[in-house]
Amino acid sequence: MSGKVIRCKAAVAREAGKPLVIEEVEVAPPQKMEVRLKILFTSLCHTDVYFWEAKGQNPLFPRILGHEAGGIVESVGEGVTNLKPGDKVLPIFTGECGECRHCKSEESNMCDLLRINTDRGVMINDGKTRFSKDGQPIYHFLGTSTFSEYTVVHSGCVAKINPDAPLDKVCVLSCGISTGMGATLNVAKPKKGMSVAVFGLGAVGLAAAEGARIAGASRIIGIDLNPSRFNEAKKFGVTEFVNPKDHDKPIQEVIAAMTDGGVDRSVECTGNVRAMISAFECVHDGWGVAVLVGVPNKDDEFKTLPVNLLNERTLKGTFFGNYKPRSDIPGVVEKYMKKEIEVEKFITHQVGFTDINKAFDYMLKGEGLRCIIRMEA
Ligand code: NAD
Ligand code: ZN
Ligand code: ZN
Repeated sequence: MSGKVIRCKAAVAREAGKPLVIEEVEVAPPQKMEVRLKILFTSLCHTDVYFWEAKGQNPLFPRILGHEAGGIVESVGEGVTNLKPGDKVLPIFTGECGECRHCKSEESNMCDLLRINTDRGVMINDGKTRFSKDGQPIYHFLGTSTFSEYTVVHSGCVAKINPDAPLDKVCVLSCGISTGMGATLNVAKPKKGMSVAVFGLGAVGLAAAEGARIAGASRIIGIDLNPSRFNEAKKFGVTEFVNPKDHDKPIQEVIAAMTDGGVDRSVECTGNVRAMISAFECVHDGWGVAVLVGVPNKDDEFKTLPVNLLNERTLKGTFFGNYKPRSDIPGVVEKYMKKEIEVEKFITHQVGFTDINKAFDYMLKGEGLRCIIRMEA
């Protein structure tokens, strides 16, 4: 099919908040520096849900959502030398051109060319979509659009991984699990024996807790509004639980009282701006570091007193746990292959592609962590 249009099934988001519709779409061949992927497994991350609901985000429809996935390269466009048909890959929502100041910096994964852009629904080469139906364009999402049997992505947004890696498991490393673990290990960087608070105990937050456990944290305090998260969280090393609903005081005060003035590190994985502020204000003065991971509404404002920073607290944020997709993710997959990290415990549900809307129901109900969607029934 190289160089030809492929007709295949995709789950199209036609309207905000309405069930995705499985439709036959046309997927154009990859252009310069692009690759066309056959997606085998994909999963649902809360970021897909926000842009599908389009409540606090810019609406763009019809769109093919999806960014946590695994697949194989079907064909490559002009100029692509690092990938070939048959390679096993994870598409990643933020890319790595390899040439820009960010890609050359050890500290950044915010590539000038391919960094996350939630509003762009087209490919950067020609400003057009590769998806269409009856001649009408269907927009891309995060440069990945994995809720389709075939998709076109920029080659800089693709991590080539060990051909023996099981895609139905490692697909969750293409967003949520790497993001949470990296937020702790690469950004919050707790030292052995430190206390760590994790706000939001979905897959991203529990991966952040897992990072804290790997780093040797002495206490891992999990904060969530959903009490059913707490049982699950025990498997991830969370040692104490706080439900903001059980307290009249601001949660940062509750945590400060539990920890003699504040935690050493905190990682926010909720997307709620109030929780972001609490996550910052609950770290200890003098050395505390807070890391924001959740995706806020586009108009949310973060407010705190400047004195909270003057008192030597640090506030940081991260996309994708500061991992560089092409350079770092193959190594994260190797860690899974060597059983140094576990991904199975994050996978609580599985559905066939035609039941993809069930995955949205589970996430909206706060049931389970990751739901794997099998493209081939
Ligand atoms: P999820 O829905 O599975 O988990 C979120 C959890 O947060 C839920 O358990 C929910 O009950 C809890 N929560 C919500 N509001 C809260 C509050 N005010 N206080 C305490 N707990 C609260 O979602 P997920 O897939 O784990 O994603 C978590 C967040 O991370 C989302 O905002 C998502 O968009 C974001 N995300 C960011 C990146 C990045 O690179 N920065 C990558 C992936 C996901
Ligand atoms: Zn995600
Ligand atoms: Zn770059």
